Amino acid sequence: MAPKDVLDLHICIIGAGMGGLATALALAKQGFRHVDVFESASNLGFVGAGIQLAPNMARILDKLGAWSDIEREAVDLKDTSIRQGSTDQELGHVDLNYIRATYDYPHMVGHRASLAGSIYAACQREKAITFLFATQASEVQSFGPQPCFTATPRKSGGGGGGGEEKPPYPVTCDVLFAADGVKSLVRDQMLRLHNVDAKIIDTGQAAYRIMLRREDMRNDPELLELIDKESVTRWIGEKRHIIAYPVSNKQIYNMSTVQPDRNFAAAPSATYTTKGSKPQMMEVFGDFCPKVKRMLDLVPDGEVCEWKLRVHEPLPFWVDEQTALVGDACHPTLPHLAQGAAQAIEDGAVIAVVLSKLPAVTPEAINKALRVYEKVRMARAYTLVELAAASGRAMHLGEGAAKEERDRQFAALKSGKGPVPDKWADADVQRMIYGRDVMKIAEEEFEGIYATL
Ligand SMILES: Cc1cc2nc3c(=O)[nH]c(=O)nc-3n(C[C@H](O)[C@H](O)[C@H](O)COP(=O)(O)OP(=O)(O)OC[C@H]3O[C@@H](n4cnc5c(N)ncnc54)[C@H](O)[C@@H]3O)c2cc1C
Repeated sequence: MAPKDVLDLHICIIGAGMGGLATALALAKQGFRHVDVFESASNLGFVGAGIQLAPNMARILDKLGAWSDIEREAVDLKDTSIRQGSTDQELGHVDLNYIRATYDYPHMVGHRASLAGSIYAACQREKAITFLFATQASEVQSFGPQPCFTATPRKSGGGGGGGEEKPPYPVTCDVLFAADGVKSLVRDQMLRLHNVDAKIIDTGQAAYRIMLRREDMRNDPELLELIDKESVTRWIGEKRHIIAYPVSNKQIYNMSTVQPDRNFAAAPSATYTTKGSKPQMMEVFGDFCPKVKRMLDLVPDGEVCEWKLRVHEPLPFWVDEQTALVGDACHPTLPHLAQGAAQAIEDGAVIAVVLSKLPAVTPEAINKALRVYEKVRMARAYTLVELAAASGRAMHLGEGAAKEERDRQFAALKSGKGPVPDKWADADVQRMIYGRDVMKIAEEEFEGIYATL
C-alpha cells in the first residue's frame, strides 16, 4: 500500500560510496524515515588516498552536519603551484586565499577515509538509515512503479568460510537510487531496456595513488618543505602528471599520478585496480626531477597500487520510472578537476530537496520529481566531466605550439590575471563550480521545472 505521508516513502540506495552516503544523509536530514543502503563490500573499505574538498562539497556537507569533523583534520589550501615535471621549474602559481571569503567555504584537502567516515558517522546518528553491508544488489526486476531488485547477502561468518549461506531475497521499495559507481549494473540494465548503446570509455590513462608518511620524509629538507606547505603542487610532463598535497594535519603527503595505461589495456575483464610495479613506476617518471623521484622512491616495494581511469559516454537520461542513477553511475569523470565526489554529493543533496517537495505521494509525482533532479544536475555534471578531460589534455601536451601557448598562459599568471590551463585553479571555472548552491537552485526551481513535465 502506498504511504500516505511523503516522509514514509521506502527509499533504497544501492552503493555506500560518496554518492550513496550523501544521498542517504540528505534524505534523513529532510525528514525521510525509511532509507535502506545496500553495499556489496563488508565495510566502507576506502583506499588510502587524499581528496580535494572543494567549497561546493563543503557547503553541502555543512548543511548536512557532516563538515566540522572533516574540516578538523583537513588542510586549508593557500595556493597551488604548477611545475615542469622534468626540471621542477614553476610554470604557474595561483593564490587560493580568496576562496573562503568569496564562497564562504575554504578549498581544503583531506583523507578519503576521513570524508567517507564522517559522512557515515553522520548517517549512523540518523535512525532513519539502515546499512546492509556485504549485500550485493543485482537484477532489477522492476524500475517502477514499485522498484524491485534482488539482494544477495554474502556468506556470513568470514574467516574459515564456515558461515551460514543466506539466500537471495527480493527488495521492493517506493524509490530506488543506484549509486553503484562507474561499473553500475543498474545503469547497464536501464540502458539495455531502452536500447541505448552507451559504453564505458577507456581513457587510456591510469593512476598510482601514494601516501607518504611525514616520518619517511623527515631527513629530506626539500620534502619536509612540501609537506609543511598548505599547497597543492602539480608536476606536469608529456602524457603524465603528478598532483600532491599534505593531508591528515600534515602527517601524510598524498600523491596521485596520471600516466598512459600500459597494464590494464590488455586486461580481458573490467579490472580497475592492480598491484603496480615499483621499477615500472620509477621508469614512467624517470625523466622527472630528482625531488619527485626521491618521493616516489619512498614507496615501499610491493605497495604500489595502480588504478585504471575509466569514464562513460554521456547518458540521455538518468531516470526510469521511480529509479534514478547517482554519482559515478551516471557521470564518472577524470580526476583532473577534483570534482567526482563533489558532484556525487551534489546529486544526493538535490535528490533530497526534490523528493521533499513532492506535491503528491504517487508514482507519477515521484517520477516527475526525479526528472527535476535530472534537469537540475545533468548539464552541470557533464560540463564538468568535459572540463576535467580538457584540463588533462592541456596538462599532458608534448613539445609544440600548443604547449608554448599553454606555458605562456601559465607565465602570464605571475604578472596578472588570465585563464589557468589547470582548470580547477582557474577563477572563472571556480566561480562556475563553487559559486552555485545546488540545493538552493533545486529549492527555487522545483515548481517551475515540475510544472513543465
Ligand atoms: C585518482 C582519483 C582521484 C580523485 N580525486 C578526487 C578529488 O580530489 N575530489 C573529488 O571530488 N573526487 C575525486 N575523485 C572522484 C571520486 O573518487 C569519485 O567520483 C567518487 O568516489 C564517486 O562516488 P560514487 O559513490 O558515485 O561511486 P563509488 O565511490 O565507486 O561507490 C560505489 C559503491 O557502490 C558499491 N556497489 C557497486 N555495485 C554494487 C552492487 N551491485 N550492490 C551493492 N553495492 C554495490 C561499491 O562497492 C561502492 O562502495 C577521484 C577519483 C580518482 C580515480
